[in-house]
Amino acid sequence: MNNQKFIIDFDSTFVSVESLDLLATLSLDGRADKEEKVQQIADITDLGMNGDISFTDSLKRRLAVLEANRSHLQALIPLLKSNISPSFERNRDFIQEHSDSIYIISSGFKEFIVPVVADFGIAEDHVLANTFEFDGDGNITGADQQNPLAGDGGKIKVVEELGLTGDILVIGDGYTDFEIKQAGLAEKFFAFTENVSRDNVVEEATFVVPSLDEVLFAKQT
Ligand SMILES: [Mg+2]
Repeated sequence: MNNQKFIIDFDSTFVSVESLDLLATLSLDGRADKEEKVQQIADITDLGMNGDISFTDSLKRRLAVLEANRSHLQALIPLLKSNISPSFERNRDFIQEHSDSIYIISSGFKEFIVPVVADFGIAEDHVLANTFEFDGDGNITGADQQNPLAGDGGKIKVVEELGLTGDILVIGDGYTDFEIKQAGLAEKFFAFTENVSRDNVVEEATFVVPSLDEVLFAKQT
């Protein structure tokens, strides 16, 4: 392992789904316009992931369509636990063993990421993610704007603040994951394609990895 640190994305990487898309299927359940709204959210997610709209814009637009509350979040957590990416599930022991060297950096939300990765031994202070804001009735009203991850370039800012040393590897499916390496904060960017393969992300990769297995193999060669 030497002094390797793993920066790992959550949505479409640690889990095989986009959490907010899944949250939408829960919060919009039973509504006549459900399908249309779920599609709207998926489209906004894609625009953001491809770098076509700003992240701030993407997050704001998705939260507005969601209309989710605390009870939907409680239902989301077990659903995410049953949608762990197969190669992460397969390498659960490795992740547990090296959890001190693993950081989950996501523009998703701590409210659902922390309990999911806790099952793999990853501590809350190794999860850097957004937090929701709620009204008095428990409805999600937005994201805490004090958190750098709620804004553009957020991943770069929080990795900078972490001040990690050693051989830093980034694993993710999105353009913002590549940007951590582009900013000079990591040695290698692994474009993770087990769940989704985005051309503009794959183009920038140090290595394209169809699963976590290839990352763990590459680190030893
Ligand atoms: Mg992702």
